[in-house]
Amino acid sequence: MSGEAFVTLATTDSYCMGATVVARSLRRHGTTRGIVVMVTPNVSQQSRLALESVFDEVIMVDVMDSEDRLHLALLGRPELGITFTKIHCWTLTQYSKCVFLDADTLVLCNVDELFERDELSAAPDPGWPDCFNSGVFVLRPSLHTHTGLMDHALQHGSFDGNARLHVQTDKLEATIVHFLGPVKPWSSSSQRDDGSSHATEQFATLWWKEYLSHTTPSTPGKQPSQDW
Ligand code: UDP
Ligand code: MN
Repeated sequence: MSGEAFVTLATTDSYCMGATVVARSLRRHGTTRGIVVMVTPNVSQQSRLALESVFDEVIMVDVMDSEDRLHLALLGRPELGITFTKIHCWTLTQYSKCVFLDADTLVLCNVDELFERDELSAAPDPGWPDCFNSGVFVLRPSLHTHTGLMDHALQHGSFDGNARLHVQTDKLEATIVHFLGPVKPWSSSSQRDDGSSHATEQFATLWWKEYLSHTTPSTPGKQPSQDW
């Protein structure tokens, strides 16, 4: 299959709020690609229905349904759960290429040109961890790569280190806002008041505008319908 899609991930209802904004901001800027979200079974039906109204596809993934050895590894190392769920995007082989966006990102303009880039790397190596820490990366779904990445993660541990390598994101930083760190735009205001910069607050305001906007998509096309 030759389709291309943006992919995000939400394993909790809070991250579903973020995912909604990812989809809305992509549509607002007129993407021509599919928009897909992976969710886990604990996400509420209400959140799932809300996602279905803005995403082309809502894909249920369950880490614990994976292979037994993975199951066992995760029992001892629950911190790997989110990482493995992220790696699930390599199983979306109905698409030839995907751009993964963290659910805490906000797209500020059309970023479809990202699909002109190729996968960050062809095989797992010690350079991989930082790629997964990035909120944005380009990938080619492949079950072969998926298996390789799972093996790599089991051997080398969590991808969530502190190093932040902005591989191939030079141009992106001006076009995609990534609210990385423990405090997200949807966090309670008492948390957000703590030392957030003026710029962060401005972007958070923009995030809320997008969250509360009613760019109701109409299938097919799901065109962006209004400006701020
Ligand atoms: N994520 C999720 N549930 C969680 C934590 C993370 O669905 O409980 C997903 C979500 O897509 C999120 C990504 O994993 O954007 C990476 O986590 P986060 O953005 O919180 O990490 P940071 O970018 O702050 O390092
Ligand atoms: Mn993030």
